[in-house]
Amino acid sequence: MRQSQLFTHTRREAPRDEASKNAQLLIRAGYIHKEMAGVYSFLPLGWRVLENIMRIIREEMNAIGGQEVHLSALQSRALWEQTDRWSDEKVDIWFKTTLAAGGEVGLAPTHEEPITAIMREHIASYRDLPQLPYQIQLKFRNELRARSGLMRGREFFMKDMYTFARTEKEHEELYERVKQAYFTIFRRLGLGDRTYLTFASGGIFSRYSHEFQTVADIGEDTIYLDKTKGIAVNKEVLEESVLADLGLEQDKLEEVRAVEVGNIFSLGTRFSKALGCVFKDAEGKERHPIMGCYGIGPNRLMGLIAELFADERGLVWPKTVAPYSAHIVALSDEPAVKNAAEKVYQDLQQANIEVCYDDRDGVSAGEKLSDADLLGIPLQLRVGMKSLKESAVDVFDRATGEERRVPLTQISETVKSAI
Ligand code: ATP
Ligand code: MG
Repeated sequence: MRQSQLFTHTRREAPRDEASKNAQLLIRAGYIHKEMAGVYSFLPLGWRVLENIMRIIREEMNAIGGQEVHLSALQSRALWEQTDRWSDEKVDIWFKTTLAAGGEVGLAPTHEEPITAIMREHIASYRDLPQLPYQIQLKFRNELRARSGLMRGREFFMKDMYTFARTEKEHEELYERVKQAYFTIFRRLGLGDRTYLTFASGGIFSRYSHEFQTVADIGEDTIYLDKTKGIAVNKEVLEESVLADLGLEQDKLEEVRAVEVGNIFSLGTRFSKALGCVFKDAEGKERHPIMGCYGIGPNRLMGLIAELFADERGLVWPKTVAPYSAHIVALSDEPAVKNAAEKVYQDLQQANIEVCYDDRDGVSAGEKLSDADLLGIPLQLRVGMKSLKESAVDVFDRATGEERRVPLTQISETVKSAI
């Protein structure tokens, strides 16, 4: 990407109507555009970050046998009435609208109903199970408060997987498999060392559900964490019997703020029963698949990562989600500098490295560097007369602040080994 061609521009001031730090930074850096409270559009750099997050999630879902689908956002009233989740008293975050042809539709806040109705058409025998369909789809929720930028939107992407199992035992096995995949996802996103499995209330189908909570001061949630055991409980279940059950002791728990980045539930046969999804077991007897649902929030993760790692100069992306791996900054418009920067740009592209090149003319070195700091790409390759005299480029690590001079001939290798 040549920065001279990028239509987005950075800005010094955060918009006055935006209270959250993650959205302020992302808007200033030109990653997102605010449409209204809780509703954001993704611009070229921001879309690359969101796609990187979604790609990591997708890879891990595929690795455990997930099959990606894409379900509709518009939902039929009749379907949701069958599970008693259409009424606003039961689900208070619906967006609903009327059809010109008559009748009501809703914008999906979640997708248990449609996925179960689809599986009903395709599952007949125990041989058709287990199944792990998932999607990455927009969800619409009429959230009362939307002050946390990307972390609580009224329109946001969710990865939601649903599992369909033959037996309780098989369900437990699938549940565990997805749980492990979630740990891998958070590790790959750079959040592994601060994301904890958190026990939450389980409803009627299991004693607990699980949240994945990332410890962060900006979190809306409070959790009670046992760092040595590596698990936490949330407020709902903080009581003696639960602590005893989990082998936790009240006085060893630390109360911390956290962001719920994922949430996994056992659903039992609530949906398969209500919607008539059945299979014939080996004896020919009709049974309802036991279901689980597994959510994770790419938008919330992007907002959290942006805010958590940022410093006073701007964004600092982990390498796995950064929009580009390297940011070449031509420190002046002198031909020698421009030619060398151009050569580095070609070399990195040849080496299949995702690279952004600040080739803008008439922009001072100071301005380019402060823009590069704001954009937060992991490695800045600073090309100027001083380093070129030594046939070298200054490689600046945005996260650590370390800078070293690397010979022109070794740039590709250096970047490759760093990412
Ligand atoms: P919360 O408790 O934060 O309201 P939830 O329990 O309603 O979330 P789920 O329905 O389990 O969330 O959704 C799964 C995941 O989707 C959440 O763990 C979170 O990462 C993400 N998510 C939920 N609501 C939002 C939102 N309004 N904006 C962005 N991401 C969200
Ligand atoms: Mg929750």
